[in-house]
Amino acid sequence: SGTAPAVDYQAILDQIWLEVAPRLGEGKVASYIPQLATVPVAQFGMAVYRLDGQMFSIGAAQTRFSAQSVTKLFALALAYTRVGDSIWQRLGKEPSGTAFNSLVQLELERGIPRNPFINAGALVITDILASCFVGSEIALLQFIRQLCGSTAPDFDLKVAESELKTAHRNFAIAHLIKDFGNLHNTVSAVVRSYCRQCSITLSCEELARAAAFLANHGSMPACVPGGTQILDASSAKRISAVMLTCGTYDAAGEFAYRVGLPAKSGVGGGIVAVIPGEAAVAVWSPGLDASHNSALGTYALARLTDLTRHSIF
Ligand code: GLN
Repeated sequence: SGTAPAVDYQAILDQIWLEVAPRLGEGKVASYIPQLATVPVAQFGMAVYRLDGQMFSIGAAQTRFSAQSVTKLFALALAYTRVGDSIWQRLGKEPSGTAFNSLVQLELERGIPRNPFINAGALVITDILASCFVGSEIALLQFIRQLCGSTAPDFDLKVAESELKTAHRNFAIAHLIKDFGNLHNTVSAVVRSYCRQCSITLSCEELARAAAFLANHGSMPACVPGGTQILDASSAKRISAVMLTCGTYDAAGEFAYRVGLPAKSGVGGGIVAVIPGEAAVAVWSPGLDASHNSALGTYALARLTDLTRHSIF
C-alpha cells in the first residue's frame, strides 16, 4: 500500500504452502454438527485477493467448504445496510471472553448479546434480517453472491438439517433472548434461518472476493464490473474493528497478537481477514484449535503478516 515496496504475494504463499503441507491434519474437525464431522481434516487452501483485482492462491483455494460463523460477517454487513447503527440498541460490541456458544453473559446482560459474532449476537442479527426480508437467508445468500461475483455459493441443506437437529444450545440461547424481549420473530424461524445461513458453502477465492469491500472503505474494488458501494467508509471501518476485537471468539486477543488483522472465523475451518487498503485474505483448513479457530489457518495468516509486514500494527 502507498509507498511500501510491492509484495510478491505468490512467492510468500508458496513459502507458506511449503511450511503447511507437512502439517496437514493438525487440529480437530468440529463434530458437534454431525455432518461437519465427515469432512477430511487434511485439507488446506488460501487466497489473497488484492484490490487491483489480482488473485493469488495455494492449495485447495477453489474447494467449497462450510462457511459457518464466517457468514456472521456478511449478515452483520447486510443488517447494517438496512438499519445502520440502530442495531447497537439490540446488541453490544465488546469481546465476550467466553466461548462462541456461551449463555452465561446473556443472562447477566438481560438478553443483550455481547457482540454480533458470537452465536447469541448472530441470532439477534438473523432476527433483524428476518424482519427486513421475506426469506432472509436467501437475501443473505444473494448478498454473498453479489459480493463474490458468482452464483456458485449455496446452502448445504444436509449441513443445515444436521445442525438444526442438534441445535439445542442455539435454541436455548434464542429462547433466553426471546424471554428478555430481544427477538421479534419466532424462535423456531430464527434458529432455522440461522442454521441455513451457517450452511452456506464457498471457496477461499470466493470468500476473499466477498470481503474485499471491507478492505476498500466499503466499496467493491473498482476493477469489479458493476461493483458498488456496499457500506459507507465509516461503517466499513466499524465492522472491521468489531472483527478485530470479536471475530475469533474468546481467542481474539491471541489472534490479534499472532496475526494482527481484523478477521472472522468459522467452525468449518474458514477464516477471512482484511488488510485495509490492500487486500482480503481467506484461508481454510478444517482442523480446529481449542478455541474453535482453524489451527493451520491461523498459522498461515500469522506467517502471511510476518512475511508481508502487512498487519495493521
Ligand atoms: N453454526 C455454528 C453454530 O452455531 C457456527 C459456529 C461457529 O462457526 N463458530 O454452532
